[in-house]
Amino acid sequence: MKISFPHMGNLYIPLTLLFSSLGLEVVVPPPISKETMNLGVKYSPEGACLPFKLTLGNFLEAAALGADTFFMAQGYGLCRFGFYTEVQQKIMRELGYETNMALVNISQNVLQNLLRKLKELSGKSQLQVLGAVRLALVAIKVLDDLEKLLYQVRPRELRKGESTKVHQKTVDRLAQASSVSEIRRIGSEGMKELAAVGQDPARTPLRVGILGEFYVVLEPFTSSDVERRLGEMGVEITKYLYASDWVSFHMFMKLFKVFKEHKSAAEAARPYLAYNVSGDGLQTVGQTILCAEEGFDGIVQLYPFTCMPEIVAKHMLPKVSDDFRIPVLSLGLDEHSGNAGFITRLEAFTDLINRRKSLRRLEVAK
Ligand code: SF4
Repeated sequence: MKISFPHMGNLYIPLTLLFSSLGLEVVVPPPISKETMNLGVKYSPEGACLPFKLTLGNFLEAAALGADTFFMAQGYGLCRFGFYTEVQQKIMRELGYETNMALVNISQNVLQNLLRKLKELSGKSQLQVLGAVRLALVAIKVLDDLEKLLYQVRPRELRKGESTKVHQKTVDRLAQASSVSEIRRIGSEGMKELAAVGQDPARTPLRVGILGEFYVVLEPFTSSDVERRLGEMGVEITKYLYASDWVSFHMFMKLFKVFKEHKSAAEAARPYLAYNVSGDGLQTVGQTILCAEEGFDGIVQLYPFTCMPEIVAKHMLPKVSDDFRIPVLSLGLDEHSGNAGFITRLEAFTDLINRRKSLRRLEVAK
């Protein structure tokens, strides 16, 4: 068996650790590129959402490298995600690939479902499977902590691009790690190196929240790396979707019935959106309000075109933006989104919130 999975940011590192530590042969798909997109678009139904097309592109590229089993989450909420795997497997078979899907149901009991699936795939003991899951979870947490620090350092760096290089160097080292202690050591060295990047202490960056659909928020290819671009324009971004948060919420907090984080966004959203529209739509609305209350300068909503949950949220955001006086830029993403137009919109948005902030300062000073 040669196992593979779709890309989503740096998640390939913990997934590779997870499977290889269980003795499975892993095929990491090539990094997402224009070719991946073209392949996915060519064989996907026309109206499919962007994550469907890109994950199919990953599968096809990995299958061409010999992968025959695809690990994937399945069945969550009301949106099209619930149909992804069935349709993708059908497409792969029609193209002549005799592939299997190793599916983990994430609608409920995620941890139990994951352990059962890993045991079935590897034939290893419960203890060995638990060890592999721990290894992957430690890597996910280390990667997310590094990313959070990167978002603080980047808008303050003295030499443009330095924090990105330091961060990437640590990510590359983590991709070679194989034990919990090694991952933790590399992570803590990486955090120190990032914190040591030369920064301008006098700079007060704009603060922008990045919200929207999980996949496009986590996979930089889809948004032409909006996080890096904003950071290099002097904006400190805060993301509210991280793989480590998802894991701790769905695997552990749900198990122990602790819902604090998500509930507060849902409560804040209630006057505008009183029910779950699937995906991350409710959180996008609620978190916009929470960010406004925390004094953020703006919000960027990332959503795949034709994504129902985020389109519902998008229709609520102009009213939220007026009521809470927070500028919101909604960016729809698909295979036609071009870099140039995208950057122009980001620059215009950054100018707008910068001017707004200066005016506010003048008002306060009067
Ligand atoms: S949340 Fe939107 S983009 Fe994501 S799977 Fe559902 S419909 Fe597609």
